[in-house]
Amino acid sequence: MAMRNGDVSFWFADMGGLPAPRPPLDGDRQVDVCIIGAGFTGLWTAYYLKVAEPALSIAVVEKDFAGFGASGRNGGWCSGEFGWSRERYRDRAGVIAMESQLRATVEEVIRVAEAEGIAADIRRTELLTFACNPAQLSRLHSALAEARAWQVPRERFALIDAGAARARIRIAGAEGALVTRGVARVQPAKLVRGLAAAVERRGVVIHEQTAVTAIAPGCVTTDRGRITAGRIVIATEGFTARLPGRRRDLLPLNSALVVTEPLSNALWEEIGWRQHELLADNAHAYCYAQRTAGNRIAMGGRGVPYRFGSALDHRGKTQAATIADLRAILHRLLPQTKGLRLDHAWCGVLGVPRDWCAAVAFDPQSGIGRAGGYVGLGVSTTNLAGRTLAELLLDRRTERTGLPWVDHDTRLWEPEPLRWLGVMGMYRLYRRADRREARAGITRTSRLAALADRLTGH
Ligand SMILES: Cc1cc2nc3c(=O)[nH]c(=O)nc-3n(C[C@H](O)[C@H](O)[C@H](O)COP(=O)(O)OP(=O)(O)OC[C@H]3O[C@@H](n4cnc5c(N)ncnc54)[C@H](O)[C@@H]3O)c2cc1C
Repeated sequence: MAMRNGDVSFWFADMGGLPAPRPPLDGDRQVDVCIIGAGFTGLWTAYYLKVAEPALSIAVVEKDFAGFGASGRNGGWCSGEFGWSRERYRDRAGVIAMESQLRATVEEVIRVAEAEGIAADIRRTELLTFACNPAQLSRLHSALAEARAWQVPRERFALIDAGAARARIRIAGAEGALVTRGVARVQPAKLVRGLAAAVERRGVVIHEQTAVTAIAPGCVTTDRGRITAGRIVIATEGFTARLPGRRRDLLPLNSALVVTEPLSNALWEEIGWRQHELLADNAHAYCYAQRTAGNRIAMGGRGVPYRFGSALDHRGKTQAATIADLRAILHRLLPQTKGLRLDHAWCGVLGVPRDWCAAVAFDPQSGIGRAGGYVGLGVSTTNLAGRTLAELLLDRRTERTGLPWVDHDTRLWEPEPLRWLGVMGMYRLYRRADRREARAGITRTSRLAALADRLTGH
């Protein structure tokens, strides 16, 4: 069987193919709330709005189909991680509260999935971040120390040594691993499609095949008609740069995955990975992986990080060089997989703000809200974002609406070619830093990585 490349993602192939699209918007309409984008952000917002106010009329406008974006293409880590610079939010108590809320999203996602009958191959498990050289190990120690300094509960993290790490998953050259507890593995397309069906059951109308072309207070213009709405939510994350006037808000950062054929039981015996843990390495150009419900390995990494002028991939098709890179990483970490066929490769975009810190915002004056910039941690974060947006739109004050990411402002990305040069330079330096750290005798993080971070404000 030839490897498939694109077709949005393996996750849809796993569900029997791409879904038949819902009908587009048919002329003009008026609603209470119009949400742009049927990914996790838009759908969670619609969900919590309907739970709070069942009588609200809500339209979700989606250019392709629900789950077409990152929500239907990601690595399926529902991790509740806090992946941004804590200092940049400048509110220590607020960050501690936000981190606690984020951890709780994992159980909240599971709760709603169960309540709504969404079967998304969800499995509670742990995340193992492997260190494969001393420099990576020293970073794991620092991450643990930082978490302690920010009052993350002690039971959330544990460091395990090389022997214990390799007993869990036989990663070549493992020197230790950080265990993150309280995470879950999901099949993301099943989750996003199930959520779309759940909001529809509550009376939300999803207009698929309908592209938004302009947004103004009170009015969303599409290629199929206009929607008048007092409140509007922009939930287009990695696609935001394609909207008029929003070119420099969020940089579309590419991430790509490959999936292997199903592994035999004998091979799983050799590898371990019994608890279907989420798996990552701790390189600067890191990779992430899951053992799927169908007993395949899905592994992702950065690929070509950014396309000039915020250009996007075509329906998830990725470059041959990216596939070769991911195959090499898989074989390096798990040489046992060398004989395996890759069945599918694909990519997608996630949204990166200039300061690499996620944000939720709602301006009651214009009635326009937005959320995004999760920097690759959207599966759990979108739940908190959607819940918070719903509360902000309804003008309710809760323990979420005062968190420091609410109305957190960041400056715009530079115009091209500076944006392209900065991001490509950053990842080139990361790769060089990774190669240096892999040399014998290196025990500390390469200075090139710090330089890379400075280049783009990471
Ligand atoms: C390859 C990859 C792997 C990832 N892995 C993980 C992971 O393992 N764990 C994790 O937590 N996060 C991961 N992420 C990040 C996570 O998937 C995203 O942050 C999250 O899904 C964003 O959800 P969203 O709803 O904000 O955006 P999206 O899911 O991208 O949805 C945006 C929607 O807006 C629509 N849209 C765009 N423009 C328009 C328009 N003009 N008019 C109408 N509709 C429009 C799009 O078609 C799309 O459906 C990954 C991302 C990628 C790309």
